[in-house]
Formats: sequence, C-alpha cells, structure tokens
Amino acid sequence: MSKLIIKNLYKRYENKGKKKTQPNDFAVNDLSLECEDGEFIGILGPSGCGKTTTLRMIAGLEDITAGDIYIGDQRVNDLHPKNRNIGLAFEDYALYPPLTVYDNIAFNLKAKGVSKDEIKQRVMDIAPLLKVEDLLDKMPISLSGGQKQRVNIARAIVRRPGILLLDEPLSHLDGKMRQALRIEIKRLHNEIKCTTVYVTHDQLEAMSLADRIAIMNLGVLQQFGTPMEVYDDPANEFVAGFIGEPPMNILKTTIIKHENDYYFTFENSDLRIIAPRRYYDLLSDGMQVKMGVRPTDIYVGGPDSKGTPVRVAVYEDLCSERRIGVRVGDELVMMITEDDTRYRQGEMIKLEVNGEKTHLFDLNTGNRIRSKK
Ligand code: ATP
Repeated sequence: MSKLIIKNLYKRYENKGKKKTQPNDFAVNDLSLECEDGEFIGILGPSGCGKTTTLRMIAGLEDITAGDIYIGDQRVNDLHPKNRNIGLAFEDYALYPPLTVYDNIAFNLKAKGVSKDEIKQRVMDIAPLLKVEDLLDKMPISLSGGQKQRVNIARAIVRRPGILLLDEPLSHLDGKMRQALRIEIKRLHNEIKCTTVYVTHDQLEAMSLADRIAIMNLGVLQQFGTPMEVYDDPANEFVAGFIGEPPMNILKTTIIKHENDYYFTFENSDLRIIAPRRYYDLLSDGMQVKMGVRPTDIYVGGPDSKGTPVRVAVYEDLCSERRIGVRVGDELVMMITEDDTRYRQGEMIKLEVNGEKTHLFDLNTGNRIRSKK
C-alpha cells in the first residue's frame, strides 16, 4: 500500500497544425489530489475530461507536461513504469491468448524472476479472491467477458502493487455482469485494502465503490469529496448536474421580494418558490441566479394542495418509482415519486417544491452560492 500525491499536474498533447495555445488545450489542467494509504479513489467525469490521461501519467505511460506525482515518499515523474510499484487493469482485457489463465496471472511475476513456488503461492492466494480458481487451466478464448476481466484484475494485483490503477474495468460488460463484478471489486478492496484509483464515466460505479470521488470536466478538477459530499454539497453547477440520476434540475431564476420574503420566480411560468431564510442575507429583489433542486425534492400535491398547476409532459413508470417531467417556462423539470398513483401524459397536476432543499449557483461562473448558516 502507498499514498499517492498529485501536485499541480498538467498535460498538453502536442497537436500538429495548431498554432495558438489555448487554456483548454490542456487535457489535464492543474490537478492536485491526495489519496491516502488504502483509500479507494474514483476519477469521474464525461468523455474527454482527462481521466485516462491522468491515470496514464500516474502509471508512467504518458509524459507529464508539468507538476509532480509521488507514490509513497518517492517522486516518480522520471521513474520507468515497471519501477513505480503499480498494478494496472484497463478496459480491454489484453490477456495473452496462447497462455492459460494461470500463466496469464503469473506472467509478470515470471518476468521479474520470482521463484516458481512463490508464484504458485501468490496465484493460489489471489485466484479465490477473484473467483477464478476453477479457470486456471483454461485459455482466454473460452472465458466470458466478466471472467476475462477478473483474470485481468488478478494479474494486476498478484504483483502486490503499492497502487492499483483501474481504467473503466467494467465498461465492456453487460448490466448484470457489471453489477456482480462491481460488488466483487468492493469486497476485494475491503480484503486487500490496496490504494486504488478507479477511472469511470459511470457515476453509479464511482458512488458505490469509492471512498472519495474526484469529478473532472475539461481537464479541470471540479470537486474532490466523499460520495455524500458531492451529492449533498456540490461545489458548482457542473457537479450538481452530473451527480444524481435523473440529475438535479437547474433553472435560471429571478429573485422577487414580497413583503418580508424572497421568492424564486421563473420566466413564462407561474411557479414561485419561497427561498430558504438562510439565503436572505445574500439575496436582493430582481437578482438573477440559478436554482437547483433534486427530482426527489419535488412532489405532486394532493387535492387541497396550493401547488402550481402544471401539465405532465413526460411520464416514465419504472415500477419501483415514477418519473414525471413538467415544463417550467422552456425547461423540463423532472421529479420522482414513489407513491402508487399512476399519471398520464397531458394530465394536470399540482407542483410542490421543497424550497429548503434548493441550491443556488452563480449565473455566470456556475459556482455554488453558499449560505452563511
Ligand atoms: P474517455 O472517457 O472518453 O476515455 P477521458 O476522460 O479518459 O475520456 P482522455 O482520454 O484523458 O479523456 O482525453 C482527454 C483529452 O485529451 C481529450 O480531449 C482527448 O481528445 C485528448 N487526448 C487524449 N489522448 C490524446 C493523444 N494521444 N493525442 C492528442 N490528444 C489526446
């Protein structure tokens, strides 16, 4: 196990033909992260945000443009990948087709000159952890995708790496297999407690596996926190809109003061939400901000509700929950209900929003506007 420290890391690919340097030319832009011994870190973000580039720089497979990487106490910027004490498993399994599962797992140990007995011991120790003990004599061609990925991960951890680097290891698998292997990876981590960096674009994987998640966009770290922190206390509009399924509804609002209270109002809509008192010091009449509210904090009012009448624009019945979309001005606002009532598209309902659960974001920067309390 090792601690991993990333300090002000930059990566710029030299793209031929491009003359001017722009800030967004950086695939990774001033990234700093500290990952504790034995911690499981998820790097999460949309396609192209710099996840794989970050992982490849930690592994030593990509040159660093600027910044430092430490594994344990050692600065590894100039260290060859094989001397970094890392285990790597990528999305595609890249097992050696002519070798059995046993020999695939043992391959790197053999190359390092580890004795035959020790290799056997280590493979036999690791195989049950990944449930591949019955596959050791098989050839890769006869394995399912999930089995191949188990072998791939076994191969990465049999070396007892200081840091395990996993890049989208589940993305080739079908839904059921993904879920099964996700649970296995969690269990495996609890057993071996190897410091792990796990790259994914799938928030469910990151939320369920990681102790802390680094959320990236356009090469820039947006927030680094526990799953609860990034969900409940997003740093900005990007994180708020990225985490959660369906994501947080984020709407442009004009603040109106009426008597002693402030209200969120929306263009071309009758919806008015009373603002939480904790924001009152920050608000003024006519101010424009963005307001975010999770689909679970919006409700369909009962017959006596004073909620705003709206028409159901989208209706999805997922059996365990129902998702309802309504128009607020030009925006589609999603809500989730778990009660048994079924709705129809076009039906009128009364919209109630839990104003206490709203978040505010700066209209221009998207940064969170935090109340003092
Ligand atoms: P994905 O989830 O699609 O794999 P990612 O978040 O892992 O995406 P990266 O692969 O790290 O993203 O890419 C980050 C940026 O760097 C992208 O804009 C990508 O086009 C660019 N990029 C990646 N590899 C190269 C390369 N070898 N040469 C030039 N640009 C590259």
